[in-house]
Amino acid sequence: MSVNAQPGGTTVKNALDKGDFKVGFSPKTKAKDPKKAMPADEQAVLQEIATSLNQLIALPRNVYLNFDTCGEANAFYDPETTEITICYELLDQFESEFKTISKDQKRIDAMVEDTLVQTFFHELGHCLIDVWDLPATGREEDAVDQLATVLLLDGSPEGRDSAINAAIEFEIASRSENKASLMFWDEHSFSKTRFYDMMCLVYGSDPQKNGNLVGPKLLPIERAERCPNEYKRAERAWLRLLEPYILK
Ligand SMILES: [Zn+2]
Repeated sequence: MSVNAQPGGTTVKNALDKGDFKVGFSPKTKAKDPKKAMPADEQAVLQEIATSLNQLIALPRNVYLNFDTCGEANAFYDPETTEITICYELLDQFESEFKTISKDQKRIDAMVEDTLVQTFFHELGHCLIDVWDLPATGREEDAVDQLATVLLLDGSPEGRDSAINAAIEFEIASRSENKASLMFWDEHSFSKTRFYDMMCLVYGSDPQKNGNLVGPKLLPIERAERCPNEYKRAERAWLRLLEPYILK
């Protein structure tokens, strides 16, 4: 929840805003496993995200953010408990993937962090579609990938680099996908498609500055030409969907 200072010293509250992003496990999860807890340094990482989101967006109820051991490399939004969970196994997977392209641990850590934020924003998209019952046509997985990229691309060079690093993760992941047994039924687009879709949005957000992303191994010119429009449409669609819930 957020109370906004208005000129003149009065404060108004967005009437729709009845919840907060909270760090930790939901009451439902804690009821099942009262000992569940997160280390303080991890709480601090998530608290930073929670604090800025609480100033940005209204929620009808509390949403809980946590890291957990899941038994698989994944991330979830659970509508039952309104929890966004990033699995430790997923972070380990990101780290080993980036180790295949860099030996510089500092750089690897930064790329893991960028990809973590992308993953988090992706799950946030699922969460907002659920709690605000947002309409979405086409594949929800693609829609929330678009939200994640639009949020990463905040206009700063750091945001651009983060989006590119997160896109690279999809490219690396695609290398280990068995082409003979691709799951055509899966709700997600293929990793390589997600790589191109993300690069397209980065390029489309500012073609002048991102001309270096177009090339044979990067974004083919045939796709690049469409990207400024793809970016505008993705940004406008999400802004319009979220407008009633954006705290001003
Ligand atoms: Zn998803």
